[in-house]
Amino acid sequence: MMAEGKRHRFRIKPPRRLVQLGVIVVLIGVPFYTQNPLEWSPSRIVLGHLPKPRVFPLSGDTWSFSIGGFTLTHPVAFIEEVLSSKVVYQPLLISALIPLVLTLVLGRVFCSWLCPVGFLLELNQKVNSLFRRAGLHLRVRIKDLRYTILALALVLVFFFAFPILSIFDPPHLFGRELMYIFTHGAVSLSGAGLLLGIFLLDLFFAPRVWCRSLCPSGGALSLLGARRLWRIRMDAGRCTHCGYCDEACPYGLEPMGLAEAKGFDWLKCDNCGLCRDVCPTGALSYRFDLKGG
Ligand code: SF4
Ligand code: SF4
Repeated sequence: MMAEGKRHRFRIKPPRRLVQLGVIVVLIGVPFYTQNPLEWSPSRIVLGHLPKPRVFPLSGDTWSFSIGGFTLTHPVAFIEEVLSSKVVYQPLLISALIPLVLTLVLGRVFCSWLCPVGFLLELNQKVNSLFRRAGLHLRVRIKDLRYTILALALVLVFFFAFPILSIFDPPHLFGRELMYIFTHGAVSLSGAGLLLGIFLLDLFFAPRVWCRSLCPSGGALSLLGARRLWRIRMDAGRCTHCGYCDEACPYGLEPMGLAEAKGFDWLKCDNCGLCRDVCPTGALSYRFDLKGG
């Protein structure tokens, strides 16, 4: 007989949204405050005589961020720096430790909780489904190329010290372009072009196609978090096979299959919790699992 089950009362999505919004507010607030565009005037912009930047205890973006001198570095930024310089600089290692440990334990939660582009793509899904209904959606399947792109990028970084990972890291580009807007009143063609391309891919091809198939940073975080301890788990006795979780998963991972212990692509799962939140019987929940897999 099916065990009685209820939807989880605590939903993960609201606090996740708050954190995602907080990141965007900080990414806009830091250059806005430091560059103070309220003091700009057209003549000053033309002559390049913008007011001096103000000092603020927060600086940087998701690639590397400082709070009053305490710096946190994205794990992929750390890898890129070490491979290009061939040196493990101790302060850099210390700044990357917390994000690295969080990724090892929680998986690629950076994508679901902190990435501003992932957040905007999540919001974009409503527009995406409108496009799909209007027949403007091209049904093209792109296989997972993240590891191939990542491997090529790492070779370029190692042999040529070419910072390609940062160039193709959308959250970093997002922060960088905001900084350009507030320092130069302009955006860069490459950065804004790539971000626009990602949104167009999302609109006309498949939801989250960049995140699921192309993002080298996401691929690196997937590999780092492959043995994560914090995982979505299924209480098969509670599952009614309604399929809501499969519909909710932005990567099409079909978490309902966990009830039958079918193969599940843990590497792609970013622990967003959307499947858990929609499950009407509470069959899906997060657990610390020391065994992994
Ligand atoms: S399986 Fe669940 S937690 Fe994992 S990505 Fe899909 S919806 Fe998010
Ligand atoms: S949402 Fe998914 S896990 Fe929950 S009852 Fe429906 S099929 Fe089962």
